[in-house]
Amino acid sequence: MKFDLHIHSCYSKNLSGEKIFGPSSKSMPEDIIKTAICNKIGVIAVTDHDNVEGGLRTYELAQRKFKDDILVIPGVEVSSKDGHILAYNVYKDIPKGLPIEETLDLIDEAGGLAVAAHPFNLKYSINKKLATKFKNRLAAYEISNSRSLANGRAMEYIKARNYAFTVGSDAHSLAEIGLCYGQLDQRVNDVREFWDAIQSKKVSFVHTYDKRLIQRAITVGTSTFLYWKKIQIYHALGKSVFLPYLEKNVEE
Ligand SMILES: [Zn+2]
Ligand SMILES: [Zn+2]
Repeated sequence: MKFDLHIHSCYSKNLSGEKIFGPSSKSMPEDIIKTAICNKIGVIAVTDHDNVEGGLRTYELAQRKFKDDILVIPGVEVSSKDGHILAYNVYKDIPKGLPIEETLDLIDEAGGLAVAAHPFNLKYSINKKLATKFKNRLAAYEISNSRSLANGRAMEYIKARNYAFTVGSDAHSLAEIGLCYGQLDQRVNDVREFWDAIQSKKVSFVHTYDKRLIQRAITVGTSTFLYWKKIQIYHALGKSVFLPYLEKNVEE
């Protein structure tokens, strides 16, 4: 039974600045579910950046229309100050920008399970020191992520310690869903059985990179450069600089 526990939807925040770049994926929940089913993936999670809405919509839609075909686990990818943490089985937002310890506390309080996303990657990832320090608080580590350049190091670290692991494509488009996937030895019928299988390490995985990595690196590099240029211009004009997501919180 295949699973992909790291997919982004059109509800995902853009880490480079929402107002200029829009959501970081254009994938709609229904299209994500149908693409996963076509790829024979039996378990998925939509884990958007700092917003649980896409995860919940996908979960609810699956409950209503695709219950016999796929198991969807609600989730979110939290931008902690120390790196991205995937939170599963959560039904509300976990605030971004907090130290990892506080982030893990909030995930616990929400009844969720925390998984280290793309560990040891250059950007947005926890380092080895933190991975080790919080080993008892992390339900698992992401051993393979199609967008990470540190899969080899993550694999070596996790295998040497026999830690539980998950796998995620980190798909920001429909075409990337299932690029990386985990394989369970047994069929699972619900979320509990799924996490039991992960904890008992009855899992193998297929590890594939997104072949458009260089093309994407150029796009991300250009968009980040333009974003910083905009901030410089705003600064020169004496205008207040846009801080991602802050405005929305103030309105509420
Ligand atoms: Zn991430
Ligand atoms: Zn991600």
